[in-house]
Amino acid sequence: IGRNPGEAEFHQAVREVFDSLAPVVQRHPEYLDMKMLERICEPERQIIFRVPWTDDKGEVHINRGFRVEFNSALGPYKGGLRFHPSVYLGVIKFLGFEQVFKNSLTGLPIGGGKGGSDFDPRGRSDGEVMRFCQSFMTELYRHIGEYTDVPAGDIGVGGREIGYLFGQYKRITNRYESGTLTGKGLAWGGSLVRTEATGYGTVVFASEMLATRGDSFEGRRVTVSGSGNVAIYAIEKVHQLGGRVVGFSDSSGYVVDEAGVDVGLLKQIKEVERGRVADYADLRDSATFSDRGSIWDVPVDVALPCATQNELNGPQAAALVKNGVIAVAEGANMPTTPEGIRTLQAAGVLFAPGKAANAGGVATSALEMQQNASRDSWSFKHTEARLTEIMQGIHETCAATADEYDAPGDYVVGANIAGFTKVADAIAAFGLI
Ligand code: NDP
Repeated sequence: IGRNPGEAEFHQAVREVFDSLAPVVQRHPEYLDMKMLERICEPERQIIFRVPWTDDKGEVHINRGFRVEFNSALGPYKGGLRFHPSVYLGVIKFLGFEQVFKNSLTGLPIGGGKGGSDFDPRGRSDGEVMRFCQSFMTELYRHIGEYTDVPAGDIGVGGREIGYLFGQYKRITNRYESGTLTGKGLAWGGSLVRTEATGYGTVVFASEMLATRGDSFEGRRVTVSGSGNVAIYAIEKVHQLGGRVVGFSDSSGYVVDEAGVDVGLLKQIKEVERGRVADYADLRDSATFSDRGSIWDVPVDVALPCATQNELNGPQAAALVKNGVIAVAEGANMPTTPEGIRTLQAAGVLFAPGKAANAGGVATSALEMQQNASRDSWSFKHTEARLTEIMQGIHETCAATADEYDAPGDYVVGANIAGFTKVADAIAAFGLI
């Protein structure tokens, strides 16, 4: 903590992983001799840069850009870019640290990194977003590349932003290097299923967890927090599997729709009109919007936090338990506080940590890189089948590792240990680097 002052989210993420690793270092004291714990939480490289841009009125703005290249033991740094006013070094480091373990769990050859800016895209015109992205890439381009570091989207960075970023990269370098960014449009090197991947993958993981208790989504009531990329496709997949999503949210409040969410309407409002969840309630008789309490007050069987970090705390977890929740799977990164996780696990609720449950996004990004490298594009069916197989594999790895370390059913322990050992063994093989 003294070495990284004021980075609360990073401390929280490291503590959660280290809490799980005691049995590993007892069994393998050589990790301690190699100072593997110190090595794994020290980023290989951290880049912080100025991003100047002008708004539509000609006024100059100065934002801060970040890229934390955390660990490249398993492959090039890989992880998204987040544009949100809450971004600072502690947020990017927490996300980069999580990404190292998540990417390891996918079984694909990708290291971990994360980046972004404190730029707030909300209310900005297309032209302003484009100028910001171009300025951001004017510095970032020298640090990235298909064999070095491969950014993607995250909060505030979707297909539009990736387009502006890739356009500027291509223009500066004079290289059509598709494998440098993922989340691209389908006409210019993108992969089918990438848009859906994180949400779909989270639901596949949750469904595998439910199956361990002979259960499924069929007929289950579900809430999904957020209404962005991850949330929308989590909702879609729950419906495909026979469940009914009765609530979703944004940072201004939440909507309850007892008839089941109309995904088409939600996509229209969020993806096309870039509106708010309250607009959905205005347009649909069965839906109500509320800014009191939280979405976690709604009684459900399965809850999927898909918005942002620390959005589900201890008392909210207790409310879910009281209302009979049986499973919680994190579509977002670190959405449940440590107290929230303890509350859910103590009550016997199946709990999937984000680094396992939301790995489908980055896994499909790695599939996009495979398609770019072979100048190929796969069908939706084939790509979704690969995603499903990867998520089932991650579930299996986490469950088997938890069993091996005498913590059956504890997916937090399973994900942290399995993610760690693979990376640590690769680092060890490289010697003192
Ligand atoms: P988006 O920007 O598409 O959506 C984020 C959503 O969360 C928005 O609806 C936003 O509402 C809402 N939100 C933000 N803060 C809060 C809050 N305090 N309370 C309630 N809702 C809130 O981002 P993504 O869907 O891409 O990302 C969501 C999460 O998933 C993040 O943690 C991200 O790191 C993680 N993730 C994303 C992946 C991806 O492929 N996109 C991959 C793996 C993880 P508002 O518009 O009001 O801000």
